[in-house]
Amino acid sequence: MKCIFYCVKCHKIATARHKCNPLSYVSITRNMRNCVDTMNDLGLELMSAVSYVENVDTSFLHKLELELEFRYEYNEAILQAMPDGWNWYKFSVKDGEVWLSGLRYTENYLWTGAETVTDRVNLIIKKFERYLSYRDPQAVKSILTLMYS
Ligand SMILES: [Zn+2]
Repeated sequence: MKCIFYCVKCHKIATARHKCNPLSYVSITRNMRNCVDTMNDLGLELMSAVSYVENVDTSFLHKLELELEFRYEYNEAILQAMPDGWNWYKFSVKDGEVWLSGLRYTENYLWTGAETVTDRVNLIIKKFERYLSYRDPQAVKSILTLMYS
């Protein structure tokens, strides 16, 4: 799926004519819009949120991957227990001088014909959206304030 820029301030796809501060732009695949909005409501700033599907050896096996990169290094406690398959990781920018946090979901998915691969990806995203909707924005924001002020 193609990556586009999404403005979290206006809740719009940011075209070349969009005039907001680029720091409010998140590089996304279209299916991740709601996740980005909810993360933003929780006070967590994303840089990118994308889904990938890789067809392994042109068989029925697919590698599904969802990846969210934050603009900061967050403590993993901030969202509490993650749903199955989701893990925190750290990645470096500026040659290892700055470390940031990310969230990743991976699954080896064997396509059986009962649904499309896109259906499967959308279901994973829907479950993650539901998980995020149960987070308490006030609680997350107070953890953020405690940790980073
Ligand atoms: Zn905007």
